[in-house]
Amino acid sequence: MRTPSLLIIYTGGTIGMVKNPLTGALQPYHFEDIYKLMPVLRNFDYNLQSISFDPLIDSSNVTPSFWVKLATVIEENYEKYDGFVVLHGTDTMAYSASMLSFMLENLNKPVIFTGSQLPMGVIRTDGRDNFINAIEIAAARIDETPMVPEVAIYFENKLMRGNRTNKYNAENFNAFLSGNYPPLAEVGVHIRYNTEQILKPNFRKLKVYKNLDNSVLILKLFPGIAEVVVKNALQIEGLKGVILETYGAGNAPTDIWFIDALIQAIGKGIIIYNVTQCKGGAVDMGKYETSMKLSQIGVIGGSDITTESAIAKMMFLLGQGFNNEEIKRLLQVSLRGELTA
Ligand code: ASP
Repeated sequence: MRTPSLLIIYTGGTIGMVKNPLTGALQPYHFEDIYKLMPVLRNFDYNLQSISFDPLIDSSNVTPSFWVKLATVIEENYEKYDGFVVLHGTDTMAYSASMLSFMLENLNKPVIFTGSQLPMGVIRTDGRDNFINAIEIAAARIDETPMVPEVAIYFENKLMRGNRTNKYNAENFNAFLSGNYPPLAEVGVHIRYNTEQILKPNFRKLKVYKNLDNSVLILKLFPGIAEVVVKNALQIEGLKGVILETYGAGNAPTDIWFIDALIQAIGKGIIIYNVTQCKGGAVDMGKYETSMKLSQIGVIGGSDITTESAIAKMMFLLGQGFNNEEIKRLLQVSLRGELTA
Protein backbone atom coordinates (compact mmCIF):
# COMPACT_ATOMS: atom_id res chain seq x y z
CA MET A 1 0.00 0.00 0.00
CA ARG A 2 1.14 3.53 -0.79
CA THR A 3 2.50 5.59 2.13
CA PRO A 4 -0.32 7.92 3.18
CA SER A 5 0.37 11.64 2.80
CA LEU A 6 -1.26 13.99 5.24
CA LEU A 7 -1.39 17.75 5.46
CA ILE A 8 -1.51 19.19 8.96
CA ILE A 9 -3.12 22.59 8.96
CA TYR A 10 -2.20 24.51 12.07
CA THR A 11 -4.60 27.39 12.67
CA GLY A 12 -3.92 28.22 16.34
CA GLY A 13 -5.64 27.53 19.64
CA THR A 14 -4.35 26.14 22.90
CA ILE A 15 -2.89 23.03 21.30
CA GLY A 16 -0.22 25.13 19.67
CA MET A 17 0.92 26.95 22.77
CA VAL A 18 4.11 26.64 24.76
CA LYS A 19 5.21 28.59 27.80
CA ASN A 20 7.64 31.38 27.16
CA PRO A 21 10.53 30.40 29.44
CA LEU A 22 11.20 34.03 30.33
CA THR A 23 7.72 35.44 30.89
CA GLY A 24 5.75 32.27 31.67
CA ALA A 25 3.02 33.41 29.27
CA LEU A 26 1.49 31.03 26.72
CA GLN A 27 2.49 31.76 23.17
CA PRO A 28 2.13 29.93 19.84
CA TYR A 29 5.11 27.83 18.86
CA HIS A 30 6.52 27.50 15.39
CA PHE A 31 5.19 24.37 13.87
CA GLU A 32 8.56 23.54 12.39
CA ASP A 33 9.57 22.83 16.00
CA ILE A 34 6.87 20.18 16.43
CA TYR A 35 9.39 17.38 16.02
CA LYS A 36 11.38 18.76 18.96
CA LEU A 37 8.23 18.79 21.06
CA MET A 38 6.95 15.44 19.79
CA PRO A 39 9.83 13.37 18.44
CA VAL A 40 7.43 10.41 18.37
CA LEU A 41 5.94 11.89 15.19
CA ARG A 42 9.03 10.72 13.32
CA ASN A 43 7.96 7.15 14.02
CA PHE A 44 4.91 7.47 11.82
CA ASP A 45 5.36 5.77 8.53
CA TYR A 46 3.46 8.59 6.84
CA ASN A 47 4.44 11.54 4.75
CA LEU A 48 3.48 14.40 7.08
CA GLN A 49 3.58 17.95 5.79
CA SER A 50 2.34 21.00 7.60
CA ILE A 51 1.15 24.47 6.90
CA SER A 52 0.67 27.19 9.51
CA PHE A 53 -1.81 30.02 9.36
CA ASP A 54 -0.41 33.50 9.70
CA PRO A 55 -1.51 34.85 12.07
CA LEU A 56 -2.29 31.89 14.31
CA ILE A 57 -5.56 32.63 16.03
CA ASP A 58 -7.43 31.92 19.18
CA SER A 59 -10.55 30.33 17.76
CA SER A 60 -12.72 33.00 19.37
CA ASN A 61 -11.51 35.12 16.46
CA VAL A 62 -12.81 32.77 13.76
CA THR A 63 -14.73 34.57 11.00
CA PRO A 64 -16.28 33.54 7.69
CA SER A 65 -13.09 34.65 5.93
CA PHE A 66 -11.14 32.21 8.13
CA TRP A 67 -13.44 29.42 6.92
CA VAL A 68 -12.88 30.46 3.31
CA LYS A 69 -9.11 30.43 3.89
CA LEU A 70 -9.27 26.96 5.45
CA ALA A 71 -11.50 25.57 2.69
CA THR A 72 -9.16 27.06 0.09
CA VAL A 73 -6.09 25.40 1.64
CA ILE A 74 -7.91 22.05 1.51
CA GLU A 75 -9.06 22.68 -2.06
CA GLU A 76 -5.58 23.62 -3.26
CA ASN A 77 -4.01 20.58 -1.64
CA TYR A 78 -6.83 18.13 -2.17
CA GLU A 79 -5.19 16.05 -4.87
CA LYS A 80 -1.79 16.00 -3.19
CA TYR A 81 -2.84 14.49 0.13
CA ASP A 82 -4.84 11.54 1.39
CA GLY A 83 -6.16 13.38 4.40
CA PHE A 84 -6.08 16.56 6.46
CA VAL A 85 -5.64 17.21 10.17
CA VAL A 86 -6.78 20.65 11.28
CA LEU A 87 -5.35 21.91 14.58
CA HIS A 88 -7.87 24.43 15.84
CA GLY A 89 -8.88 26.05 19.13
CA THR A 90 -11.62 24.18 20.89
CA ASP A 91 -13.87 27.16 21.59
CA THR A 92 -15.37 27.38 18.10
CA MET A 93 -14.21 24.07 16.68
CA ALA A 94 -17.77 22.76 16.44
CA TYR A 95 -18.76 25.80 14.34
CA SER A 96 -15.76 25.47 12.04
CA ALA A 97 -16.19 21.72 11.58
CA SER A 98 -19.88 22.27 10.82
CA MET A 99 -19.15 25.02 8.34
CA LEU A 100 -16.40 23.10 6.55
CA SER A 101 -18.73 20.12 6.19
CA PHE A 102 -21.12 22.33 4.22
CA MET A 103 -18.46 24.14 2.21
CA LEU A 104 -16.80 20.91 1.04
CA GLU A 105 -19.31 19.04 -1.10
CA ASN A 106 -18.44 15.53 -2.33
CA LEU A 107 -15.63 15.32 0.20
CA ASN A 108 -13.94 11.97 -0.18
CA LYS A 109 -11.00 12.40 2.18
CA PRO A 110 -10.75 12.77 5.94
CA VAL A 111 -10.69 16.29 7.39
CA ILE A 112 -10.06 15.66 11.08
CA PHE A 113 -10.20 18.60 13.48
CA THR A 114 -8.50 18.35 16.82
CA GLY A 115 -7.12 20.57 19.56
CA SER A 116 -6.56 20.37 23.26
CA GLN A 117 -7.53 21.75 26.63
CA LEU A 118 -3.92 21.97 27.81
CA PRO A 119 -1.15 23.38 25.62
CA MET A 120 1.20 21.00 23.88
CA GLY A 121 4.11 22.42 25.86
CA VAL A 122 2.58 21.31 29.17
CA ILE A 123 3.63 17.87 30.43
CA ARG A 124 0.06 16.68 31.12
CA THR A 125 -1.24 17.92 27.80
CA ASP A 126 -4.13 16.12 26.15
CA GLY A 127 -2.89 17.57 22.86
CA ARG A 128 -0.34 14.85 22.21
CA ASP A 129 -2.85 11.99 22.27
CA ASN A 130 -5.44 13.96 20.37
CA PHE A 131 -2.94 14.89 17.68
CA ILE A 132 -1.46 11.40 17.30
CA ASN A 133 -4.86 9.73 17.08
CA ALA A 134 -6.17 12.35 14.65
CA ILE A 135 -3.19 11.61 12.39
CA GLU A 136 -3.77 7.87 12.63
CA ILE A 137 -7.45 8.30 11.76
CA ALA A 138 -6.78 10.69 8.87
CA ALA A 139 -4.40 8.12 7.41
CA ALA A 140 -6.65 5.08 7.86
CA ARG A 141 -7.75 3.40 4.66
CA ILE A 142 -9.15 0.10 3.53
CA ASP A 143 -7.95 -0.86 0.05
CA GLU A 144 -6.92 2.73 -0.68
CA THR A 145 -10.38 4.00 0.33
CA PRO A 146 -10.35 6.38 3.31
CA MET A 147 -12.07 5.07 6.44
CA VAL A 148 -13.52 8.47 7.31
CA PRO A 149 -14.32 10.52 4.19
CA GLU A 150 -15.91 13.34 6.13
CA VAL A 151 -15.28 16.33 8.39
CA ALA A 152 -14.92 15.05 11.94
CA ILE A 153 -13.66 16.10 15.35
CA TYR A 154 -11.32 13.84 17.27
CA PHE A 155 -11.22 14.53 20.98
CA GLU A 156 -10.43 12.43 24.05
CA ASN A 157 -10.85 8.93 22.61
CA LYS A 158 -13.77 9.71 20.36
CA LEU A 159 -14.18 10.60 16.74
CA MET A 160 -17.40 12.51 16.15
CA ARG A 161 -19.11 13.86 13.06
CA GLY A 162 -18.10 17.53 13.12
CA ASN A 163 -21.51 18.97 12.37
CA ARG A 164 -23.08 16.97 15.24
CA THR A 165 -20.87 18.31 18.01
CA ASN A 166 -20.77 21.03 20.61
CA LYS A 167 -18.13 22.02 23.11
CA TYR A 168 -19.88 21.39 26.39
CA ASN A 169 -17.07 21.44 28.91
CA ALA A 170 -14.46 24.14 29.42
CA GLU A 171 -12.45 22.09 31.88
CA ASN A 172 -12.56 18.36 31.17
CA PHE A 173 -10.41 16.69 28.56
CA ASN A 174 -13.65 15.18 27.40
CA ALA A 175 -14.85 18.53 26.06
CA PHE A 176 -17.09 17.64 23.13
CA LEU A 177 -20.48 16.10 22.90
CA SER A 178 -22.30 14.54 20.01
CA GLY A 179 -25.66 14.25 21.68
CA ASN A 180 -27.66 13.03 18.73
CA TYR A 181 -25.23 10.92 16.76
CA PRO A 182 -23.06 7.99 17.82
CA PRO A 183 -19.28 8.31 17.65
CA LEU A 184 -17.71 7.51 14.29
CA ALA A 185 -14.87 5.76 16.07
CA GLU A 186 -13.82 4.95 19.61
CA VAL A 187 -10.20 4.78 20.57
CA GLY A 188 -8.71 2.48 23.17
CA VAL A 189 -6.16 -0.23 22.57
CA HIS A 190 -7.70 -0.43 19.10
CA ILE A 191 -9.37 2.20 16.99
CA ARG A 192 -12.85 0.84 16.48
CA TYR A 193 -14.62 2.43 13.55
CA ASN A 194 -18.40 2.42 13.53
CA THR A 195 -18.47 2.00 9.78
CA GLU A 196 -22.26 1.96 9.65
CA GLN A 197 -22.33 5.53 11.01
CA ILE A 198 -19.64 6.97 8.74
CA LEU A 199 -20.63 8.65 5.49
CA LYS A 200 -19.98 6.47 2.45
CA PRO A 201 -17.21 7.48 0.08
CA ASN A 202 -18.42 9.11 -3.12
CA PHE A 203 -16.42 9.57 -6.23
CA ARG A 204 -17.77 12.84 -7.51
CA LYS A 205 -15.52 15.85 -7.86
CA LEU A 206 -14.94 17.98 -4.77
CA LYS A 207 -16.89 21.22 -4.94
CA VAL A 208 -15.92 24.05 -2.60
CA TYR A 209 -18.49 26.73 -1.79
CA LYS A 210 -17.01 30.01 -0.64
CA ASN A 211 -19.96 32.38 -0.48
CA LEU A 212 -21.29 32.68 3.03
CA ASP A 213 -23.90 35.16 4.20
CA ASN A 214 -23.74 36.14 7.86
CA SER A 215 -27.01 38.13 7.94
CA VAL A 216 -28.12 35.77 10.67
CA LEU A 217 -28.92 35.71 14.36
CA ILE A 218 -29.33 33.19 17.18
CA LEU A 219 -32.28 34.07 19.38
CA LYS A 220 -32.25 31.98 22.54
CA LEU A 221 -35.53 31.92 24.43
CA PHE A 222 -35.68 32.20 28.20
CA PRO A 223 -38.58 32.76 30.56
CA GLY A 224 -39.04 36.51 30.83
CA ILE A 225 -37.55 37.44 27.47
CA ALA A 226 -38.81 40.96 26.82
CA GLU A 227 -41.13 41.91 24.00
CA VAL A 228 -38.95 44.88 23.10
CA VAL A 229 -35.90 42.62 22.77
CA VAL A 230 -37.60 40.10 20.49
CA LYS A 231 -39.24 42.79 18.34
CA ASN A 232 -36.05 44.78 17.92
CA ALA A 233 -33.95 41.71 17.21
CA LEU A 234 -36.32 40.63 14.45
CA GLN A 235 -36.30 44.11 12.96
CA ILE A 236 -32.53 44.33 12.47
CA GLU A 237 -31.93 45.69 9.01
CA GLY A 238 -30.77 43.12 6.50
CA LEU A 239 -31.55 40.17 8.76
CA LYS A 240 -32.27 37.08 6.65
CA GLY A 241 -32.17 34.06 8.93
CA VAL A 242 -32.84 33.41 12.61
CA ILE A 243 -31.95 30.32 14.62
CA LEU A 244 -34.67 30.27 17.24
CA GLU A 245 -33.37 28.24 20.21
CA THR A 246 -36.53 26.93 21.79
CA TYR A 247 -37.28 24.74 24.78
CA GLY A 248 -37.42 20.96 24.76
CA ALA A 249 -39.01 19.50 21.67
CA GLY A 250 -39.24 22.92 20.00
CA ASN A 251 -41.60 24.76 22.31
CA ALA A 252 -41.99 28.52 22.68
CA PRO A 253 -44.31 30.95 24.47
CA THR A 254 -47.78 31.31 23.02
CA ASP A 255 -48.08 35.05 23.87
CA ILE A 256 -49.77 36.94 21.08
CA TRP A 257 -46.97 39.55 20.92
CA PHE A 258 -44.39 36.81 20.44
CA ILE A 259 -46.25 34.99 17.69
CA ASP A 260 -47.06 38.32 16.00
CA ALA A 261 -43.39 39.32 16.00
CA LEU A 262 -42.52 36.04 14.29
CA ILE A 263 -45.36 36.39 11.78
CA GLN A 264 -44.14 39.86 10.85
CA ALA A 265 -40.55 38.66 10.43
CA ILE A 266 -41.60 35.70 8.28
CA GLY A 267 -43.79 38.09 6.26
CA LYS A 268 -40.67 40.14 5.48
CA GLY A 269 -38.91 37.04 4.17
CA ILE A 270 -36.84 36.23 7.27
CA ILE A 271 -36.37 32.49 7.69
CA ILE A 272 -36.91 31.24 11.24
CA TYR A 273 -35.29 27.89 12.06
CA ASN A 274 -36.43 26.12 15.21
CA VAL A 275 -33.61 24.39 17.08
CA THR A 276 -33.81 22.95 20.59
CA GLN A 277 -31.78 24.24 23.53
CA CYS A 278 -31.35 20.61 24.65
CA LYS A 279 -28.11 18.78 23.92
CA GLY A 280 -29.98 15.66 22.88
CA GLY A 281 -33.31 14.97 21.19
CA ALA A 282 -35.15 16.76 18.44
CA VAL A 283 -37.61 19.50 17.60
CA ASP A 284 -41.02 18.01 16.93
CA MET A 285 -43.34 20.88 16.08
CA GLY A 286 -46.94 20.04 16.83
CA LYS A 287 -46.19 17.63 19.67
CA TYR A 288 -47.24 20.31 22.16
CA GLU A 289 -49.62 23.18 21.74
CA THR A 290 -46.65 25.50 22.42
CA SER A 291 -45.00 24.47 19.19
CA MET A 292 -48.06 23.87 17.03
CA LYS A 293 -48.47 27.58 16.43
CA LEU A 294 -44.86 27.89 15.25
CA SER A 295 -45.36 25.38 12.48
CA GLN A 296 -48.68 26.98 11.49
CA ILE A 297 -47.05 30.37 10.95
CA GLY A 298 -44.17 28.98 8.87
CA VAL A 299 -41.31 28.43 11.32
CA ILE A 300 -39.03 25.69 9.96
CA GLY A 301 -38.21 22.71 12.20
CA GLY A 302 -34.55 21.80 12.66
CA SER A 303 -35.08 18.23 13.91
CA ASP A 304 -31.99 17.25 15.96
CA ILE A 305 -29.48 19.69 14.44
CA THR A 306 -27.11 21.49 16.83
CA THR A 307 -27.17 25.27 17.11
CA GLU A 308 -23.60 25.37 15.78
CA SER A 309 -24.53 23.38 12.73
CA ALA A 310 -27.78 25.31 12.23
CA ILE A 311 -26.04 28.69 12.12
CA ALA A 312 -23.40 27.33 9.75
CA LYS A 313 -26.02 25.77 7.49
CA MET A 314 -28.05 28.98 7.43
CA MET A 315 -25.00 31.10 6.46
CA PHE A 316 -24.03 28.54 3.86
CA LEU A 317 -27.49 28.27 2.25
CA LEU A 318 -28.08 32.03 2.29
CA GLY A 319 -24.72 32.45 0.56
CA GLN A 320 -25.66 30.24 -2.38
CA GLY A 321 -28.38 32.51 -3.75
CA PHE A 322 -31.22 30.01 -3.44
CA ASN A 323 -34.73 31.39 -3.10
CA ASN A 324 -36.39 31.21 0.32
CA GLU A 325 -38.55 28.20 -0.50
CA GLU A 326 -35.49 26.22 -1.55
CA ILE A 327 -33.58 27.27 1.57
CA LYS A 328 -36.51 26.20 3.76
CA ARG A 329 -36.61 22.84 2.03
CA LEU A 330 -32.86 22.30 2.35
CA LEU A 331 -32.90 23.26 6.04
CA GLN A 332 -35.11 20.25 6.68
CA VAL A 333 -33.07 17.68 4.80
CA SER A 334 -29.69 16.23 5.65
CA LEU A 335 -27.00 17.62 3.37
CA ARG A 336 -23.92 16.25 5.20
CA GLY A 337 -25.41 14.02 7.88
CA GLU A 338 -26.07 17.02 10.15
CA LEU A 339 -29.63 16.07 11.10
CA THR A 340 -32.03 13.20 11.20
CA ALA A 341 -34.62 13.92 8.52
N1 ASP B 1 -9.39 29.89 23.43
C1 ASP B 1 -8.81 28.72 22.84
C2 ASP B 1 -9.29 28.63 21.40
O1 ASP B 1 -10.37 28.20 21.16
C3 ASP B 1 -9.17 27.52 23.60
C4 ASP B 1 -8.65 26.23 23.04
O2 ASP B 1 -7.93 26.16 22.10
O3 ASP B 1 -9.00 25.20 23.61
O4 ASP B 1 -8.57 29.01 20.53
